[in-house]
Amino acid sequence: MDCLFCSIVDKVIPSNIIYEDDLLLSFTDINPQAPIHFLIIPKKHIKSLDTMENDDLELISHIFKVIPKLAKQQGIEGGYRVVNNCGKNGGQTVDHLHFHVLGNREMLWPPG
Ligand code: 5GP
Ligand code: ZN
Repeated sequence: MDCLFCSIVDKVIPSNIIYEDDLLLSFTDINPQAPIHFLIIPKKHIKSLDTMENDDLELISHIFKVIPKLAKQQGIEGGYRVVNNCGKNGGQTVDHLHFHVLGNREMLWPPG
């Protein structure tokens, strides 16, 4: 399967990895939208939130357990934003489930 983030998981495509365990990989975004901007992805290929199965829910809770730890470890202060873009209208450009974590600037609301 031709998937950019699977290639990053397989380390065929290099990335700046900030965290890795059996289930997850986290790396900095190549086009950061905040002073700190990293992505966290399941190693398993899941296309989007829309194609998740019940068995994947544990993965999601693990992701959300890790996010605050990484936010702190990466030096985010004063809060942060977690974003999942799902599907075309959600702004998803890479079809492998991922969560953005953005910090160290004040975020706007509503998002564009
Ligand atoms: P999406 O728009 O699908 O929510 O987010 C995809 C994100 O992946 C974008 O923020 C984009 O900058 C990032 N991205 C795309 N290609 C690469 C890459 O090769 N390496 C890294 N580290 N990030 C990438
Ligand atoms: Zn993939």
